[in-house]
Amino acid sequence: MKSQNFYDRPGFDRAGHLRREQGWLLERIADKKSQLVPIWRSRNLVADAQQPTLTTISMDTSLLERSPVLVFLGLINEVAHFAIDLSAESEPPLKEFGSFEDLRRIGPLLPRDEGSLMAFARAHMTWHKRHLFCGVCGSATESREGGHVRVCKNENCNSHCFPRIDPAVIMLIHDGKDRVVLGRKKTMQPGQHSILAGFVEPGESLENAVAREIFEEVGLEITDIEYHSSQPWPFPANIMLGFTARATTFDLTVDYNELEGGAQWFSRDFLKNSPENDTFRLPRRDSISRRLMNEWIDS
Ligand SMILES: [Zn+2]
Repeated sequence: MKSQNFYDRPGFDRAGHLRREQGWLLERIADKKSQLVPIWRSRNLVADAQQPTLTTISMDTSLLERSPVLVFLGLINEVAHFAIDLSAESEPPLKEFGSFEDLRRIGPLLPRDEGSLMAFARAHMTWHKRHLFCGVCGSATESREGGHVRVCKNENCNSHCFPRIDPAVIMLIHDGKDRVVLGRKKTMQPGQHSILAGFVEPGESLENAVAREIFEEVGLEITDIEYHSSQPWPFPANIMLGFTARATTFDLTVDYNELEGGAQWFSRDFLKNSPENDTFRLPRRDSISRRLMNEWIDS
């Protein structure tokens, strides 16, 4: 069996059938055994920033008054877990429990079973914050069904808005022998290189998105496009859909608007002996990019 991607091993039961059970939800909210997963300005609470793990706190109804929304995330060992958003606090709250850290930074340090719930809480709160108003009529919306839908408060509109996920393809392009194409965006760490990626457009299949993005970014034509695996990537709301493909042309024409640091072919031997410094380093350990590269390097 393939190893799994970071953030994709759930470690909890979403219990979606309970989201509409308003009486049950109210009981869980009143139950001190229930657990809260606090978010402050897109950051997750962790007890230890050096060795982060999923950190929850027991239900505290006084905290709920400080959160504009409460999201039922699911069950762990029958215990209900809710995300709360404490972003209105001017300073990071709950100092006695730990610190608020950016999952994008601490992700590689997390146990794999725990990242998924933290990603879920973070992504959900970002979605709520960005959908306070109806996209149809502009009226305010309100959270319903345990925080899994926002409904327009204008009764004549009643539009329902569901959590949004943006699909992005990410693809390892090889030459059929021992080279892959890697590129650099200026937002990456110094020296970091990655396989290429891009958003899927409306009306486009995943395979067509893979071929289009590769042609746009580096001017290559490809074949043998094969799906590999997917990875939730809540920065802010993506799902990464991993592919491999073989190039049929080899001259790179780089779009420097997309890849400010350029793109080039790298050999398997070079990658095996990556210097991991500010000249060249592999993608971050928790990314599907790294996993696709590792599997190709070892193949
Ligand atoms: Zn509306």
